[in-house]
Amino acid sequence: MNEVPEQIDPRPWLAAARGGARREDAMRALASDEPGPRELAALLSPAAGALLEPMARRAQALTRRHFGRTVQLYVPLYLSSHCPGGCLYCGFASDRAAPRHRLEPEQSEDEMDALKSMGFEEVLLLTGERCPGADYAYVRDCVARAARHFHNVNVEVFPMETGEYRGLAEAGCSGLTLYQETYDPGRYERFHRWGPKRDYRARLDAPERALRAGLRFAGLGALLGLSDPRYDLLALYRHAAALRKQYWRSGISISFPRIRDQEGGFRPDFPVSDRELAQFIYAFRLCLPDVPLVLSTRERPALRDGMAGVGISKMSVASRTTVGGYSGRTQYSEGQFEVSDGRGIDEFCAMLRAANLEPVFKNWEAVYR
Ligand code: SF4
Repeated sequence: MNEVPEQIDPRPWLAAARGGARREDAMRALASDEPGPRELAALLSPAAGALLEPMARRAQALTRRHFGRTVQLYVPLYLSSHCPGGCLYCGFASDRAAPRHRLEPEQSEDEMDALKSMGFEEVLLLTGERCPGADYAYVRDCVARAARHFHNVNVEVFPMETGEYRGLAEAGCSGLTLYQETYDPGRYERFHRWGPKRDYRARLDAPERALRAGLRFAGLGALLGLSDPRYDLLALYRHAAALRKQYWRSGISISFPRIRDQEGGFRPDFPVSDRELAQFIYAFRLCLPDVPLVLSTRERPALRDGMAGVGISKMSVASRTTVGGYSGRTQYSEGQFEVSDGRGIDEFCAMLRAANLEPVFKNWEAVYR
């Protein structure tokens, strides 16, 4: 049985976050100059739900102070939908009937060319769990190709060993994104029915292995809806804090994915409303003022527009969750989940500029890899 390590255990603050904190506690946390897990718990609590306006104002001021008027943009590139995993909530799980596809490395370059011509300088390469169709050599090959096109190449793939991460860094990879999905060990076991992803600890420790191996950025997150979001967000905060303390030269970012409709029809036990999601994002901005907070095209345009620059400093845009499709040469129809914001890059950037924000495509030089 997996256990949550003491270092990230959210339980000391859970009762406060679930309802023990009062309005005065939330107001004190809102005014705190050095917020920690106690303040985060108060700001995540139902009592803080009544303070959304002042939380948004402070979140916006902190985002402006640390990130200026910029919103960094990136695009995901799904390389393969092959996966031996049995994740209950995923359209790529191995018991889904949908056909599987994989971009040959040469095809991936067609997609990269297309993304480059759209203006992107940062790409996130995605696959499922390790399998013969998409193994380490394949990922490394695609990273090396991507590094010839983009200044910043990140991966959202299966957990790897330290030596493998070192190899990815040598191939030009800057960072990884790896969501724990849920930090609750019991529920983690229930959702990950089979496959290598069942190993809670191997996944939890992977960002640390990657940073130790020389990758410069680690993106963390919990898939909101799978478990009590307050449990997951407190653990996520502690996970990020522990990594920041030990790998202080590295960059940590935090994403807020919510469960989306997918083939398989999974419905979350803990749906998170728009209002709660906004509260959670503001709470993280207040407690981690200089950490990039990320929001993807899983969310609807109105919500994304409202969050841009108000807590959120990094966003995906023009995303396809299918394998291929950017170049028009390779088009497969089944995605990992449904995208809610289908706007093209011009329309999205026009929205940002109308809100007095500046889209940023490049904040990293390939020469610094
Ligand atoms: S979430 Fe990842 S590991 Fe799980 S089935 Fe989907 S692609 Fe595979």
